[in-house]
Amino acid sequence: MDIDSIECVSSVDGLEEEEIPHLDNHHNNHHHHHPFPAKQRSNVVVPTAITPATSVHELLECPVCTNSMYPPIHQCHNGHTLCSTCKGRVHNRCPTCRQELGDIRCLALEKVAESLELPCRYYNLGCPEIFPYYSKLKHETVCNFRPYNCPYAGSECSIVGDIPRLVTHLRDDHKVDMHTGNTFNHRYVKSNPREVENATWMLTVFSHLGQYFCLHFEAFQLHNAPVYMAFLRFMGDENEARNYSYSLEVGGNGRKMIWEGTPRSIRDSHRKVRDSHDGLIIQRNMALFFSGGDRKELKLRVTGRIWKEQQNPDASPCIPNMSS
Ligand SMILES: [Zn+2]
Ligand SMILES: [Zn+2]
Ligand SMILES: [Zn+2]
Ligand SMILES: [Zn+2]
Repeated sequence: MDIDSIECVSSVDGLEEEEIPHLDNHHNNHHHHHPFPAKQRSNVVVPTAITPATSVHELLECPVCTNSMYPPIHQCHNGHTLCSTCKGRVHNRCPTCRQELGDIRCLALEKVAESLELPCRYYNLGCPEIFPYYSKLKHETVCNFRPYNCPYAGSECSIVGDIPRLVTHLRDDHKVDMHTGNTFNHRYVKSNPREVENATWMLTVFSHLGQYFCLHFEAFQLHNAPVYMAFLRFMGDENEARNYSYSLEVGGNGRKMIWEGTPRSIRDSHRKVRDSHDGLIIQRNMALFFSGGDRKELKLRVTGRIWKEQQNPDASPCIPNMSS
């Protein structure tokens, strides 16, 4: 957070600041979890019929990069296999026997892979689904149980995890302000708003009804005009996000702007939400008018509320894009 640029003065008005309880993280190591038993270390030479899935799975692991192999799977004249990515990197030499590689496909192994069914790689995060080998990857890119990316904006953060882990991470590593309650009252202050350009922003996290919400506030250039924007993201998936609504209000000097919307899921990147203009956008001139005084200082008071909507199972996803 660019503390010098924008300062969050307070969140008072009867709101009690509460420490977010430390949440245990049960899934710390899931990234390295391997859904199959470790290689058997026994001395049995004769293949047994007990572990065919394990063996086939091992056969489908590229011996060079250890990723799962997908067609075209290649092999050398001696039958050593490798994936197509690695094939392009080994200068036509088999990495196992150093013989010339040639251009031989291993159709038998490709066919065996086709007959396999494997659990989703996020099964230890709760996904119960089992997929044919070749559709597994596709599912995993959209699996509801896949870990979330860190919602913190302004820097590339590579942390992924479930919501409790990300909440702890935001609080401990990004030093994000944490608040409890469904209303908020923030003052964004900047002494020299003329300097505000891209990438000035801040994040506050609210917990309400056991869920977490990210309130983003930032300044950027919109069609070469400086604007401020505030919006809410829900820490969870799109379906859950649609159960909530929020309002934002900003004003001063007898004028007021109100935004009412549905929080976006943090599955949608901060950037994506910003670029779709799905939030309260305030022109800088208006913001300075709201700030009062001699327009030298930005003092924006943003109040807001989060509430749960009545369940509507028929509601279809509606993600607006106001920028077009
Ligand atoms: Zn490989
Ligand atoms: Zn070879
Ligand atoms: Zn899954
Ligand atoms: Zn992060």
